[in-house]
Amino acid sequence: MGMLDLKITGAFVVMKQQVARMDIGVMNGKIVSLSDTVAMEAKQHIHAAGLYMLPGMVDAHVHFNEPGMGHWEGFESGSSALAAGGCTTYIDMPLNGLPPTVSVPALNVKLQAANRSLVDYALWGGLVPGNLDQLESLAEAGVIGFKAFMSEPGGDGIGRFERADRTTLLEGMKRIAKLGRILALHAEDEEMVAALAAESIRKGKTDAHDFAESRPISAECAAVRQALLMAEETGCALHFVHISSAEAVWLIQEAKLKGMDVTLETCPHYLTLTVDDMVRQGAVAKCAPPLRSMNEQTKLWEVVAAGCVDIIASDHSPCPLELKQQRHFFEAWGGIAGAQSSLELMVDEGHIQRKLPLPLIIAMLSLNPARRFGLHPQKGEIALGADADLVLMDLDHSYTLENSHLKQRHAYSPYIGKRFNCRVMSTWVRGQLVYELNAADQISENKGRIAADPQGIWLSGGA
Ligand code: ZN
Repeated sequence: MGMLDLKITGAFVVMKQQVARMDIGVMNGKIVSLSDTVAMEAKQHIHAAGLYMLPGMVDAHVHFNEPGMGHWEGFESGSSALAAGGCTTYIDMPLNGLPPTVSVPALNVKLQAANRSLVDYALWGGLVPGNLDQLESLAEAGVIGFKAFMSEPGGDGIGRFERADRTTLLEGMKRIAKLGRILALHAEDEEMVAALAAESIRKGKTDAHDFAESRPISAECAAVRQALLMAEETGCALHFVHISSAEAVWLIQEAKLKGMDVTLETCPHYLTLTVDDMVRQGAVAKCAPPLRSMNEQTKLWEVVAAGCVDIIASDHSPCPLELKQQRHFFEAWGGIAGAQSSLELMVDEGHIQRKLPLPLIIAMLSLNPARRFGLHPQKGEIALGADADLVLMDLDHSYTLENSHLKQRHAYSPYIGKRFNCRVMSTWVRGQLVYELNAADQISENKGRIAADPQGIWLSGGA
């Protein structure tokens, strides 16, 4: 037996079934010991008594905009924000970059840009009208799954990622089922949201409330129903992204009980912000589906607590701030830039405030996405033999989020000014420190620092 590269002792370790005080030993990027005491010598020893060690978040839904739109967000800046927020693996969406990832040549262009990533990553391919014949080659080239929109993605001309009409969806599902991959869906009924938005704008009703009313929960549920029918017919595995309502969760739960291969994600913003925040903050808090009422948010927490939500992902979707400041709310770019805050929001509001067990929270943030997208057991869990993707958190550390804390390209977020009751102290990817708050200096000025050069690796799907 040689020497460990890293030993972290005394922390409360959050595992699949329990939280226990354990020592962790790391060698060659892997967790090689996990027990009450690790006696082996290590090149580096971190004393972490009183702190919590969590598996790095696996964020299944981010938009990093490269290639082509790196002035919105890039792999290096976006992944730095993730590292500072305790995320060690992410899956980048196929749209909002140029070209969108709807063919193998486009995937290859993205892979060039992605090697500036600080943490590990996988990539989604797109299902759009006209690219059915690209799906097989994209799957072979290593996309983790496919993403399609049931409503218009918005942002005219940006990335030219088109909504999948019903025939494209049905044919796409047949092929994706054959390929044994998963189709991720943005589920809002286009006919409803397009008509309601047009009517609202025609009447001059163009504020945040009007926007929310133009994308009702019934539009989300209509699209979920439609997609489930098609999935039942084709046998395609589905993953519903950013579900905003308990009603839609119930529909998906019914499908699961029927034995269908379907999962869903929600996002921290649906659990921590409401339509009133969208009114107060403006388009910084604009997203689709929109933020809901406090009453709906309470119902969403209930289904989270009941274990009916598989995955929580950031849907980090930033843009230059000017694009948030348009003539009216419907014209502003939609997308919430929350990459850095997902884990802290969920531990704070889910565990510290609502007393949900940490293993439940961590299952939605790490274990379930890793399992669903074929990244487990390498990713998603603190376990022997897994990658040492680790996050040290202080659950007794309060701070107020400021713009200067954010590592992403455009330093705004709907959580600026929010008081957090926990904080990410350090993040390791495969045993390499990528972020540290600098625990020696606990004063509130502390901005944290990125501790490594880009070293993220591509996790190709279906391997
Ligand atoms: Zn998205």
